[in-house]
Amino acid sequence: MSWLSDIARPDIVALKPYEHASWEPPLERLHANELPWRALGDNTEAGLNRYPEPQPRALVQRLAALYDVPPESVLIGRGSDEAIDLLVRSYCRAGQDAVIVCPPTFGMYAVAARIQGADVIAVPLRVENDFALEAQRVLEQCTPAVKLVFLCSPNNPTGNLLSEDAVLRMARALEGRALVVVDEAYVEFAPGKSLTKYVRELPQLVILRTLSKAHGLAGARCGTLIASPEIVALLRKVIPPYAITQLTVEAVMNLLEAPQLAIMRARIEQVRSERERLIRAFRELPGVGRVWPSEANFFLAEFRDPAGALTRARSANLLIRDIRAQAGMPRSLRVSIGSRDQNDRLLGALR
Ligand code: PMP
Repeated sequence: MSWLSDIARPDIVALKPYEHASWEPPLERLHANELPWRALGDNTEAGLNRYPEPQPRALVQRLAALYDVPPESVLIGRGSDEAIDLLVRSYCRAGQDAVIVCPPTFGMYAVAARIQGADVIAVPLRVENDFALEAQRVLEQCTPAVKLVFLCSPNNPTGNLLSEDAVLRMARALEGRALVVVDEAYVEFAPGKSLTKYVRELPQLVILRTLSKAHGLAGARCGTLIASPEIVALLRKVIPPYAITQLTVEAVMNLLEAPQLAIMRARIEQVRSERERLIRAFRELPGVGRVWPSEANFFLAEFRDPAGALTRARSANLLIRDIRAQAGMPRSLRVSIGSRDQNDRLLGALR
Protein backbone atom coordinates (compact mmCIF):
# COMPACT_ATOMS: atom_id res chain seq x y z
CA MET A 1 0.00 0.00 0.00
CA SER A 2 1.35 3.43 -0.93
CA TRP A 3 0.45 7.05 -0.15
CA LEU A 4 -2.32 6.73 -2.74
CA SER A 5 -4.21 4.70 -0.12
CA ASP A 6 -2.90 6.64 2.89
CA ILE A 7 -4.73 9.77 1.73
CA ALA A 8 -8.02 7.87 1.14
CA ARG A 9 -10.74 7.49 3.76
CA PRO A 10 -9.29 5.05 6.32
CA ASP A 11 -12.66 3.30 6.73
CA ILE A 12 -12.78 2.62 2.98
CA VAL A 13 -9.20 1.35 2.98
CA ALA A 14 -10.18 -1.00 5.84
CA LEU A 15 -13.54 -1.92 4.31
CA LYS A 16 -14.16 -5.56 3.53
CA PRO A 17 -16.08 -5.29 0.25
CA TYR A 18 -19.33 -7.08 -0.53
CA GLU A 19 -18.70 -10.58 -1.83
CA HIS A 20 -20.81 -10.94 -4.94
CA ALA A 21 -21.83 -14.33 -6.32
CA SER A 22 -18.76 -15.80 -7.98
CA TRP A 23 -18.46 -15.49 -11.75
CA GLU A 24 -17.65 -18.96 -13.07
CA PRO A 25 -19.16 -19.70 -16.43
CA PRO A 26 -19.88 -22.33 -17.69
CA LEU A 27 -21.00 -23.63 -14.26
CA GLU A 28 -24.78 -23.39 -13.86
CA ARG A 29 -25.87 -20.71 -11.42
CA LEU A 30 -27.85 -21.78 -8.42
CA HIS A 31 -25.95 -19.32 -6.20
CA ALA A 32 -27.43 -15.89 -7.00
CA ASN A 33 -31.18 -16.31 -6.46
CA GLU A 34 -31.90 -15.68 -10.15
CA LEU A 35 -34.69 -17.30 -12.17
CA PRO A 36 -33.59 -20.00 -14.59
CA TRP A 37 -35.82 -18.60 -17.41
CA ARG A 38 -35.54 -15.52 -19.55
CA ALA A 39 -38.30 -12.91 -19.64
CA LEU A 40 -40.48 -13.09 -22.75
CA GLY A 41 -38.73 -11.12 -25.50
CA ASP A 42 -35.33 -11.06 -23.81
CA ASN A 43 -33.00 -11.58 -26.74
CA THR A 44 -29.75 -10.53 -25.13
CA GLU A 45 -26.79 -12.85 -25.51
CA ALA A 46 -26.37 -13.62 -21.81
CA GLY A 47 -29.99 -13.35 -20.65
CA LEU A 48 -31.25 -10.59 -18.44
CA ASN A 49 -32.35 -13.15 -15.86
CA ARG A 50 -28.66 -13.33 -14.90
CA TYR A 51 -26.68 -10.72 -13.04
CA PRO A 52 -24.00 -9.23 -15.26
CA GLU A 53 -20.32 -9.93 -14.72
CA PRO A 54 -18.92 -7.32 -12.31
CA GLN A 55 -16.35 -5.18 -14.19
CA PRO A 56 -16.79 -7.46 -17.25
CA ARG A 57 -13.35 -8.61 -18.31
CA ALA A 58 -13.98 -8.44 -22.05
CA LEU A 59 -15.28 -4.89 -21.79
CA VAL A 60 -12.42 -3.83 -19.51
CA GLN A 61 -10.00 -5.17 -22.11
CA ARG A 62 -11.82 -3.47 -24.95
CA LEU A 63 -11.75 -0.10 -23.19
CA ALA A 64 -8.14 -0.57 -22.10
CA ALA A 65 -7.22 -1.16 -25.76
CA LEU A 66 -9.31 1.82 -26.88
CA TYR A 67 -7.50 4.14 -24.46
CA ASP A 68 -4.14 2.39 -24.78
CA VAL A 69 -3.69 1.63 -21.09
CA PRO A 70 -3.26 -1.63 -19.12
CA PRO A 71 -6.51 -3.35 -18.04
CA GLU A 72 -5.49 -3.10 -14.35
CA SER A 73 -5.71 0.69 -14.71
CA VAL A 74 -9.34 0.61 -15.85
CA LEU A 75 -12.54 0.97 -13.82
CA ILE A 76 -15.82 1.08 -15.74
CA GLY A 77 -18.73 3.03 -14.33
CA ARG A 78 -22.09 4.48 -15.30
CA GLY A 79 -20.60 7.43 -17.11
CA SER A 80 -17.88 9.70 -15.78
CA ASP A 81 -20.51 10.93 -13.35
CA GLU A 82 -20.16 7.70 -11.38
CA ALA A 83 -16.36 7.92 -11.39
CA ILE A 84 -16.54 11.45 -9.96
CA ASP A 85 -18.88 10.26 -7.22
CA LEU A 86 -16.72 7.22 -6.39
CA LEU A 87 -13.59 9.36 -6.08
CA VAL A 88 -15.23 11.82 -3.74
CA ARG A 89 -16.83 9.14 -1.61
CA SER A 90 -13.61 7.14 -1.33
CA TYR A 91 -11.19 10.00 -0.72
CA CYS A 92 -13.11 12.64 1.25
CA ARG A 93 -14.22 12.32 4.85
CA ALA A 94 -17.45 14.24 5.43
CA GLY A 95 -16.87 17.43 7.36
CA GLN A 96 -13.08 17.15 7.14
CA ASP A 97 -11.71 16.84 3.63
CA ALA A 98 -12.01 19.05 0.57
CA VAL A 99 -11.81 19.13 -3.21
CA ILE A 100 -10.61 21.91 -5.49
CA VAL A 101 -12.58 22.89 -8.57
CA CYS A 102 -11.74 25.52 -11.20
CA PRO A 103 -14.98 27.21 -12.29
CA PRO A 104 -16.50 27.88 -14.71
CA THR A 105 -16.44 24.11 -15.11
CA PHE A 106 -18.58 20.99 -15.09
CA GLY A 107 -20.90 21.22 -12.10
CA MET A 108 -20.85 17.61 -10.95
CA TYR A 109 -17.48 17.85 -9.17
CA ALA A 110 -18.84 20.34 -6.65
CA VAL A 111 -22.22 18.64 -6.37
CA ALA A 112 -20.70 15.21 -5.72
CA ALA A 113 -18.40 16.74 -3.11
CA ARG A 114 -21.27 18.53 -1.35
CA ILE A 115 -23.37 15.36 -1.31
CA GLN A 116 -20.47 13.66 0.41
CA GLY A 117 -20.13 16.53 2.90
CA ALA A 118 -16.71 17.56 1.59
CA ASP A 119 -15.68 21.19 1.36
CA VAL A 120 -15.44 22.72 -2.12
CA ILE A 121 -12.63 25.20 -2.71
CA ALA A 122 -13.01 27.18 -5.94
CA VAL A 123 -9.96 28.50 -7.77
CA PRO A 124 -11.57 30.18 -10.79
CA LEU A 125 -10.19 30.07 -14.31
CA ARG A 126 -10.01 33.75 -15.19
CA VAL A 127 -11.59 35.21 -18.26
CA GLU A 128 -8.79 37.78 -18.56
CA ASN A 129 -6.39 34.85 -18.74
CA ASP A 130 -8.41 33.02 -21.43
CA PHE A 131 -9.52 30.45 -18.82
CA ALA A 132 -6.00 29.00 -18.64
CA LEU A 133 -5.09 26.74 -15.74
CA GLU A 134 -3.03 28.68 -13.21
CA ALA A 135 -1.23 25.85 -11.46
CA GLN A 136 0.44 28.03 -8.88
CA ARG A 137 -2.85 29.56 -7.71
CA VAL A 138 -4.33 26.07 -7.33
CA LEU A 139 -1.29 24.82 -5.41
CA GLU A 140 -1.55 27.77 -3.03
CA GLN A 141 -5.05 26.59 -2.07
CA CYS A 142 -4.00 22.98 -1.54
CA THR A 143 -4.31 22.69 2.22
CA PRO A 144 -3.78 19.24 3.81
CA ALA A 145 -7.59 18.80 3.72
CA VAL A 146 -7.58 18.80 -0.10
CA LYS A 147 -7.64 15.23 -1.41
CA LEU A 148 -8.79 15.78 -4.99
CA VAL A 149 -8.19 18.49 -7.58
CA PHE A 150 -10.74 18.31 -10.40
CA LEU A 151 -9.63 19.63 -13.77
CA CYS A 152 -11.53 19.41 -17.04
CA SER A 153 -9.73 19.46 -20.39
CA PRO A 154 -11.16 20.49 -22.79
CA ASN A 155 -13.09 22.40 -20.17
CA ASN A 156 -16.86 22.50 -20.13
CA PRO A 157 -18.24 25.16 -20.73
CA THR A 158 -15.26 27.24 -21.89
CA GLY A 159 -14.04 24.76 -24.53
CA ASN A 160 -10.29 25.28 -23.99
CA LEU A 161 -7.67 22.62 -23.36
CA LEU A 162 -5.64 23.04 -20.19
CA SER A 163 -1.90 23.24 -20.67
CA GLU A 164 -0.28 19.82 -20.40
CA ASP A 165 2.73 21.39 -18.68
CA ALA A 166 0.60 23.07 -16.03
CA VAL A 167 -1.36 19.89 -15.28
CA LEU A 168 1.77 17.75 -15.03
CA ARG A 169 3.55 20.35 -12.91
CA MET A 170 0.62 20.42 -10.54
CA ALA A 171 0.44 16.62 -10.34
CA ARG A 172 4.17 16.42 -9.56
CA ALA A 173 3.85 19.06 -6.86
CA LEU A 174 0.98 17.17 -5.23
CA GLU A 175 2.76 13.84 -4.96
CA GLY A 176 2.07 12.37 -1.54
CA ARG A 177 -0.78 14.83 -0.90
CA ALA A 178 -3.68 14.71 -3.35
CA LEU A 179 -4.93 13.20 -6.61
CA VAL A 180 -5.27 15.29 -9.75
CA VAL A 181 -8.35 14.18 -11.66
CA VAL A 182 -8.43 15.25 -15.31
CA ASP A 183 -11.85 14.88 -16.88
CA GLU A 184 -11.27 14.31 -20.59
CA ALA A 185 -14.91 13.83 -21.59
CA TYR A 186 -14.35 15.86 -24.78
CA VAL A 187 -10.75 15.04 -25.58
CA GLU A 188 -11.56 13.00 -28.70
CA PHE A 189 -12.46 16.33 -30.31
CA ALA A 190 -8.85 17.43 -29.70
CA PRO A 191 -6.97 14.44 -31.14
CA GLY A 192 -3.64 13.59 -29.53
CA LYS A 193 -4.21 15.70 -26.41
CA SER A 194 -5.12 13.02 -23.86
CA LEU A 195 -2.88 12.70 -20.79
CA THR A 196 -3.58 8.97 -20.24
CA LYS A 197 0.00 8.20 -21.23
CA TYR A 198 1.26 9.87 -18.04
CA VAL A 199 -0.75 7.75 -15.58
CA ARG A 200 1.98 5.13 -15.24
CA GLU A 201 4.67 7.71 -14.49
CA LEU A 202 2.44 9.85 -12.24
CA PRO A 203 0.19 7.57 -10.15
CA GLN A 204 -1.48 10.62 -8.59
CA LEU A 205 -3.01 11.38 -11.99
CA VAL A 206 -6.53 10.05 -12.62
CA ILE A 207 -8.08 10.40 -16.07
CA LEU A 208 -11.79 10.22 -16.82
CA ARG A 209 -12.94 9.19 -20.28
CA THR A 210 -16.46 8.55 -21.53
CA LEU A 211 -18.34 7.00 -24.43
CA SER A 212 -21.04 9.68 -24.04
CA LYS A 213 -19.58 12.34 -26.30
CA ALA A 214 -17.54 11.53 -29.43
CA HIS A 215 -18.68 7.89 -29.44
CA GLY A 216 -22.33 8.91 -29.42
CA LEU A 217 -23.28 6.50 -26.63
CA ALA A 218 -24.56 8.81 -23.88
CA GLY A 219 -27.60 6.60 -23.36
CA ALA A 220 -25.46 3.54 -22.65
CA ARG A 221 -23.94 5.19 -19.54
CA CYS A 222 -20.39 3.96 -19.85
CA GLY A 223 -17.43 5.89 -18.52
CA THR A 224 -13.89 4.79 -17.81
CA LEU A 225 -11.65 5.86 -14.98
CA ILE A 226 -7.96 5.37 -15.76
CA ALA A 227 -5.63 5.35 -12.78
CA SER A 228 -2.97 3.50 -10.89
CA PRO A 229 -4.09 -0.12 -10.16
CA GLU A 230 -4.00 0.72 -6.44
CA ILE A 231 -6.63 3.45 -6.89
CA VAL A 232 -8.72 1.21 -9.15
CA ALA A 233 -8.65 -1.56 -6.51
CA LEU A 234 -9.78 0.88 -3.83
CA LEU A 235 -12.67 2.24 -5.92
CA ARG A 236 -13.75 -1.28 -6.83
CA LYS A 237 -14.62 -1.80 -3.18
CA VAL A 238 -17.07 1.10 -3.37
CA ILE A 239 -18.71 0.73 -6.79
CA PRO A 240 -21.83 -1.46 -6.71
CA PRO A 241 -20.92 -4.94 -7.97
CA TYR A 242 -23.40 -4.91 -10.85
CA ALA A 243 -23.03 -1.29 -11.89
CA ILE A 244 -22.83 -1.97 -15.62
CA THR A 245 -26.00 -3.52 -17.01
CA GLN A 246 -25.85 -6.47 -19.38
CA LEU A 247 -27.67 -4.36 -21.99
CA THR A 248 -24.81 -1.85 -21.88
CA VAL A 249 -22.11 -4.52 -21.89
CA GLU A 250 -23.49 -6.15 -25.03
CA ALA A 251 -24.30 -2.89 -26.77
CA VAL A 252 -20.87 -1.39 -26.13
CA MET A 253 -19.01 -4.57 -27.15
CA ASN A 254 -20.93 -4.50 -30.44
CA LEU A 255 -20.61 -0.75 -30.96
CA LEU A 256 -16.86 -0.38 -30.41
CA GLU A 257 -15.70 -2.37 -33.41
CA ALA A 258 -13.44 -1.01 -36.14
CA PRO A 259 -16.26 0.16 -38.47
CA GLN A 260 -17.88 2.25 -35.72
CA LEU A 261 -14.51 3.70 -34.72
CA ALA A 262 -13.89 4.76 -38.32
CA ILE A 263 -17.29 6.47 -38.41
CA MET A 264 -16.55 8.14 -35.09
CA ARG A 265 -13.33 9.64 -36.45
CA ALA A 266 -15.15 10.95 -39.50
CA ARG A 267 -17.84 12.48 -37.29
CA ILE A 268 -15.24 14.17 -35.13
CA GLU A 269 -13.95 15.88 -38.27
CA GLN A 270 -17.51 16.83 -39.21
CA VAL A 271 -18.12 18.31 -35.75
CA ARG A 272 -14.85 20.23 -35.85
CA SER A 273 -15.58 21.70 -39.23
CA GLU A 274 -19.17 22.64 -38.28
CA ARG A 275 -17.85 24.14 -35.05
CA GLU A 276 -15.47 26.42 -36.92
CA ARG A 277 -18.20 27.40 -39.41
CA LEU A 278 -20.63 28.16 -36.59
CA ILE A 279 -18.10 30.13 -34.56
CA ARG A 280 -17.26 32.26 -37.64
CA ALA A 281 -20.96 32.86 -38.26
CA PHE A 282 -21.65 33.72 -34.62
CA ARG A 283 -18.88 36.31 -34.69
CA GLU A 284 -20.85 38.09 -37.44
CA LEU A 285 -24.18 38.01 -35.60
CA PRO A 286 -25.56 41.28 -34.28
CA GLY A 287 -26.09 41.01 -30.53
CA VAL A 288 -23.28 38.54 -30.07
CA GLY A 289 -20.18 39.70 -28.22
CA ARG A 290 -17.22 37.49 -27.57
CA VAL A 291 -17.25 33.99 -29.07
CA TRP A 292 -14.67 31.71 -27.55
CA PRO A 293 -12.56 29.29 -29.56
CA SER A 294 -13.19 25.65 -28.67
CA GLU A 295 -11.52 22.25 -28.78
CA ALA A 296 -14.77 20.44 -27.92
CA ASN A 297 -18.18 19.81 -29.52
CA PHE A 298 -19.62 23.02 -28.12
CA PHE A 299 -18.61 26.64 -27.77
CA LEU A 300 -19.31 29.57 -25.53
CA ALA A 301 -20.70 32.90 -26.69
CA GLU A 302 -21.63 36.17 -24.98
CA PHE A 303 -24.94 37.78 -25.90
CA ARG A 304 -26.21 41.30 -25.42
CA ASP A 305 -29.64 39.76 -24.70
CA PRO A 306 -29.10 36.12 -23.64
CA ALA A 307 -32.73 35.62 -22.54
CA GLY A 308 -33.91 36.77 -25.99
CA ALA A 309 -31.43 34.41 -27.69
CA LEU A 310 -32.74 31.48 -25.66
CA THR A 311 -36.29 32.36 -26.66
CA ARG A 312 -35.40 32.70 -30.34
CA ALA A 313 -33.64 29.33 -30.28
CA ARG A 314 -36.71 27.77 -28.66
CA SER A 315 -38.92 29.24 -31.35
CA ALA A 316 -36.82 27.22 -33.84
CA ASN A 317 -37.40 24.17 -31.62
CA LEU A 318 -33.81 24.24 -30.35
CA LEU A 319 -32.41 24.24 -26.83
CA ILE A 320 -29.08 25.87 -26.10
CA ARG A 321 -27.55 25.94 -22.64
CA ASP A 322 -28.07 28.82 -20.27
CA ILE A 323 -24.94 29.16 -18.18
CA ARG A 324 -25.53 32.64 -16.81
CA ALA A 325 -25.62 31.20 -13.30
CA GLN A 326 -21.91 30.28 -13.51
CA ALA A 327 -19.65 32.75 -11.72
CA GLY A 328 -18.40 35.50 -14.00
CA MET A 329 -20.54 34.53 -17.03
CA PRO A 330 -23.63 36.73 -16.77
CA ARG A 331 -24.24 36.92 -20.55
CA SER A 332 -22.96 33.58 -21.80
CA LEU A 333 -24.71 30.71 -23.49
CA ARG A 334 -23.23 27.39 -24.54
CA VAL A 335 -24.05 25.93 -27.94
CA SER A 336 -23.57 22.24 -28.74
CA ILE A 337 -22.64 21.50 -32.35
CA GLY A 338 -25.59 19.80 -34.04
CA SER A 339 -26.23 18.57 -37.54
CA ARG A 340 -25.73 21.07 -40.37
CA ASP A 341 -29.48 21.57 -40.58
CA GLN A 342 -29.80 22.21 -36.86
CA ASN A 343 -26.88 24.62 -36.90
CA ASP A 344 -28.39 26.50 -39.83
CA ARG A 345 -31.75 26.72 -38.09
CA LEU A 346 -30.05 28.12 -34.99
CA LEU A 347 -28.22 30.74 -37.05
CA GLY A 348 -31.46 31.63 -38.84
CA ALA A 349 -33.29 32.05 -35.52
CA LEU A 350 -30.57 34.28 -34.06
CA ARG A 351 -30.13 36.50 -37.12
N1 PMP B 1 -17.56 15.46 -17.64
C1 PMP B 1 -17.89 16.52 -18.35
C2 PMP B 1 -16.90 17.61 -18.51
C3 PMP B 1 -19.17 16.63 -18.91
O1 PMP B 1 -19.48 17.72 -19.60
C4 PMP B 1 -20.07 15.57 -18.74
C5 PMP B 1 -21.46 15.58 -19.32
N2 PMP B 1 -22.03 16.75 -19.59
C6 PMP B 1 -19.68 14.48 -17.98
C7 PMP B 1 -18.41 14.44 -17.47
C8 PMP B 1 -20.59 13.34 -17.70
O2 PMP B 1 -20.44 12.41 -18.67
P1 PMP B 1 -20.98 10.93 -18.57
O3 PMP B 1 -22.09 10.85 -19.56
O4 PMP B 1 -19.81 10.10 -18.93
O5 PMP B 1 -21.45 10.71 -17.16
